[in-house]
Amino acid sequence: MDYLLRRYFSDVKLTNQIEIKFGREAKYRFGSIRLVKKGITSGQGTTSITSYLPRLLLKARGTRDTFEARGTLKTSQTPQKSIITITSMFAKESVPAEVVHYTIAHELCHYAHGFSSANRRLFKYPHHGGIVNKELTGRGAHHLISAFKKWLKIYRGQILSGRVSV
Ligand SMILES: [Zn+2]
Repeated sequence: MDYLLRRYFSDVKLTNQIEIKFGREAKYRFGSIRLVKKGITSGQGTTSITSYLPRLLLKARGTRDTFEARGTLKTSQTPQKSIITITSMFAKESVPAEVVHYTIAHELCHYAHGFSSANRRLFKYPHHGGIVNKELTGRGAHHLISAFKKWLKIYRGQILSGRVSV
């Protein structure tokens, strides 16, 4: 994550601390970002992003990100931190590094856009009009999108044929 921040997001203001960890995610949910008050790790009552799948590859299955109403994000004096969770499946060496990089960079775009971060919110919705991939492309990370899409097709094929169970 630090590498990606330095390489692609060096201009983004780190308005609050970001942590990253592995976690248990759903079959088609590879990463998420949520904003929590410091010291709270359960994530209850916070904004959370779940996932993000290119619609061309996957039919809607309730896998899209959800956000709570803006009202819950009123800036308070309580220190906050963003927590990015990456599926533990990505700890496997068989998953290409670029796929992991894509997933982390995707969440960092949400952070930059002010979703689940203390940054000013730049858009109404986290995935409006493909803003995440536009952001990545603009930051010179288009190759990560291609690598992710390529991998996702293979992964999806494995899931559908029962060769992989998650
Ligand atoms: Zn997303």
